[in-house]
Amino acid sequence: MADFGFTIIKPRVIDYDSNDRRIAEYIFEREPSFRLCIECGACSATCSAGNFTRFSLREFNILLKRGENSYVKNELKKCMLCGKCTLVCPRGVNTRNVISLAQEAFIKLNGHEV
Ligand code: SF4
Ligand code: SF4
Repeated sequence: MADFGFTIIKPRVIDYDSNDRRIAEYIFEREPSFRLCIECGACSATCSAGNFTRFSLREFNILLKRGENSYVKNELKKCMLCGKCTLVCPRGVNTRNVISLAQEAFIKLNGHEV
């Protein structure tokens, strides 16, 4: 392998081929507004769960689309489904429904509760 003078550590590598995007596809089909997310972070700034934990809906959205489901599944538990994020989204993404559908998808596709 060529030596470029730096390395990319394993946890930072995005392996799209081995990531599982079925949860994201399940949501895209049922809540098309999820495609409009520009990852601006307004939802994270107002998030109730984010005030008390390290939960970031912006990060959640990015990793969900990448198919990094182990992270997504763990973070899902922190959301209280209060809906504040949906009220502030400048792109009209129904974020609350995105999270509800993610919970549903984990049960239907993976056969276990979140
Ligand atoms: S506020 Fe809306 S557009 Fe911005 S990161 Fe959140 S979901 Fe995406
Ligand atoms: S619905 Fe969940 S992600 Fe949205 S503001 Fe409430 S706790 Fe945060």
